Amino acid sequence: LTIWHADLAWLGEVRERVLLEADGDRLARVTSDVEAPPGARRLSGLVLPGLVNVHSHAFQRALRGRSQPAQAREQGDFWSWRGLMYRLAATLDPDLLFELARATYVEMALAGITTVGEFHYLHGRPDGEPYADPNRTGRTIAAAAEAAGLRITLLDACYLRGGLDGRPLEGAQLRFGDRSAAAWAERVEALDGGPAFRVGAAIHSVRAVDEPSMAAVAGWAADRGAPLHVHLSEQPAENRDSLAATGLTPAALLHRAGALGPRTTAVHATHLEAGDVELLGATATGVCLCPTTERDLADGVGPAAALARAGSPLCAGSDSQAVIDLFEEARAIELDQRLVSGRRGHHSPEALLKAMTESGAVALGWDAGRLEAGMLADFVALDLTGIRLAGWSREDLVRHVVFAATAADVTDVVIGGREVVAGRRHARPPEAGAALHEAIGRALAAPGGRASEG
Ligand SMILES: [Zn+2]
Repeated sequence: LTIWHADLAWLGEVRERVLLEADGDRLARVTSDVEAPPGARRLSGLVLPGLVNVHSHAFQRALRGRSQPAQAREQGDFWSWRGLMYRLAATLDPDLLFELARATYVEMALAGITTVGEFHYLHGRPDGEPYADPNRTGRTIAAAAEAAGLRITLLDACYLRGGLDGRPLEGAQLRFGDRSAAAWAERVEALDGGPAFRVGAAIHSVRAVDEPSMAAVAGWAADRGAPLHVHLSEQPAENRDSLAATGLTPAALLHRAGALGPRTTAVHATHLEAGDVELLGATATGVCLCPTTERDLADGVGPAAALARAGSPLCAGSDSQAVIDLFEEARAIELDQRLVSGRRGHHSPEALLKAMTESGAVALGWDAGRLEAGMLADFVALDLTGIRLAGWSREDLVRHVVFAATAADVTDVVIGGREVVAGRRHARPPEAGAALHEAIGRALAAPGGRASEG
């Protein structure tokens, strides 16, 4: 048994003097209002269930800052950003992908993220040919998470075509693709998970996968009880193309393919049409919002409050890694609704806390996100003595934390009963910032990787 004693912990409500006992990677017992026994490790501040980053593309961390328009007169949108991202995607070999992903995952761990959902589509070689092991990059990503101490669900994405008009993959997209949904399934079947590694399915989007193939991927996930994720209506152009090609909105098309339901997470769900909210809610399809990416790419603000009311559990992701801060993502779910509605109070602070913990864990297929016996021993401690959170009281602590805490307030991170971050320092790779800086430098120096050139 490993034992921690927290001054304060969130157990559905804020409790004092909480004893957390882990047996292996799970919590064996959680009790409050007790004194610390000898040998218990003290966690000061507030302990929360580990934060869950449901939607990540680790390699896109290399675009942070550099992809921002340098001048006020520079124009740009999602599609021009995608051009930069494709240029980067065309350069990464497995070694560089490992360094970039590992360092990005260290940044996540330091930010209190205990589990990441990596939406993975960089499958083949830059020229599109498969590696000798067709899962080389997926295994590389899983190894990077392990090296950073992070729990991971690898959401392996089926990606078959360049658009709803059926055009073939080209350029950087070639390495994303599988020959067919059956070839995708055969490849993914060869990936084994581990104690901190799960394999899930993804349909890249209705743009990239035809309806019968969507149904096949959804069936594969259903047979295995695996999570199924899909990018949904991030841009209005996807809706226009879907309506033109099929007469259905992307959400309705996914529904007809049997791809919606409680194990499915729709990522973004920004530009929903009439009926889509009800469809997602009635099927209990989860929705992962990525507000810092959505605002960065000028995507728009999705109907988060209406989705929650309709029955869709909400969760959050750092997606493009514009920043890595789940507190910022979670409060933006509420604050963005305020901007577009002229009204406050769409989501309770407790609902936002649940989005960044428990609902995220469910979306990625893990028994985590709640501090109780039997759940995975994933939790984080927040410093409450710093200048930023000064002035809190027991009664308003959750509001304080949800609306003002940042990744920098995380002091300790325990994942599967192991201390991955202690006293704001990561246990394993030292010089994490330097390692990431170096990996990004190499990614951008590679041929075709000059993301700052137009
Ligand atoms: Zn994404």
